Amino acid sequence: FTPWEDTAAEPFIEFRNVTKRFGDFVAVDNLSLKIYEREFFALLGGSGCGKTTMMRMLAGFETPTSGQIFLDGQDLAGIPAFRRPSNMMFQSYALFPHMSVENNIAFGLKQDKLPKSEIDDRVAEMLRLTKLEQFAKRKPHQLSGGQRQRVALARSLAKRPKVLLLDEPLGALDRKLREETQFELMALQEDLKMTFLIVTHDQEEAMTVADRIAVMDQGQLVQVATPAEIYETPNSKFVANFIGDVNLIETKVVEASPSQTRLEAMMGGFLIETDQTTSARPGDTVWYAIRPEKVRVAKGKAEPGSVNAVNGPVWDIAYLGDVSIIHAKIGEGDFDTLKSTFANVTRVVEDPITWYDDVVLTFDRNAGVILD
Ligand code: ATP
Repeated sequence: FTPWEDTAAEPFIEFRNVTKRFGDFVAVDNLSLKIYEREFFALLGGSGCGKTTMMRMLAGFETPTSGQIFLDGQDLAGIPAFRRPSNMMFQSYALFPHMSVENNIAFGLKQDKLPKSEIDDRVAEMLRLTKLEQFAKRKPHQLSGGQRQRVALARSLAKRPKVLLLDEPLGALDRKLREETQFELMALQEDLKMTFLIVTHDQEEAMTVADRIAVMDQGQLVQVATPAEIYETPNSKFVANFIGDVNLIETKVVEASPSQTRLEAMMGGFLIETDQTTSARPGDTVWYAIRPEKVRVAKGKAEPGSVNAVNGPVWDIAYLGDVSIIHAKIGEGDFDTLKSTFANVTRVVEDPITWYDDVVLTFDRNAGVILD
């Protein structure tokens, strides 16, 4: 399912040069974005980056200062929130406390004056899909947080919107429940064959649920790609840092040929050689990003003159059960470390590494990325 790879495909949701200002403050800065039908799409970014404002403009709670937003071919300008074919589920859930679960779900349908039989059918369907049948007669205060969250979801979906907007929907749930609910959301989205747009600051959540992620910073899109692309080939220091754990190594370009690049790390002066090419010139400074799990660690020293290898004493070890994270101190002077993550199952038994051991850290030619 990769509609974004089809250059002729029509987007289902399109932001076209959208800017939103609050007074002098630019919350969304001339941003363009295409989202396709049946995508589970995540807007990801830190606090204040503008992601909620994006969603609120799509829902009709905010008006863009300039630019256009389209949904299913329709320009949304001037269309009030309640007429838009989208529905937004809030973090607070906003359930009616005095109404039963089934009445909460039916509320919007009654307002739309749907025939009773139709309402009953849809409520039953939603109760089934969200596994709430046995709670239909309960009031919100008689439910757990996770169940309340499912009622809010059922109520948002009952009106069969063209797109469901989820604003930090799982923020109030504890970690385990949040993970379970993420998988339920994905299953529901598959079942209903709908377009879901989620706003979150939680990178793991975005990686788990989304087909594609837009990483935002200061009102702009930094990278829009699949979770795997964002993790494997971040386009900037910002994205590399924001998603997952990473070693960011400042380097000087030594060679930049059409077939390979050689870099010299500022810390420890070791050489990095990669097939990736760069537009930077010899002498330029570039950053090299490499995930800790791509760095191998072993006792011993690198052969003199070897590339993609560096020595150092173990400075810190974090044992996390399934993996350990090892920091090796690199070079003299400043406190620079290179992190390596390895699966404990094999390593702990074979070759236990402890504090102050001399280790060699090595990585494959194409294990990291040059951030041009
Ligand atoms: P968070 O995760 O903290 O909710 P966010 O990325 O969703 O952050 P937005 O809610 O989109 O951020 O807000 C983006 C910026 O716009 C923030 O700096 C915020 O203070 C500002 N902002 C949002 N709404 C208004 C408003 N009504 N008036 C003035 N400034 C606003």
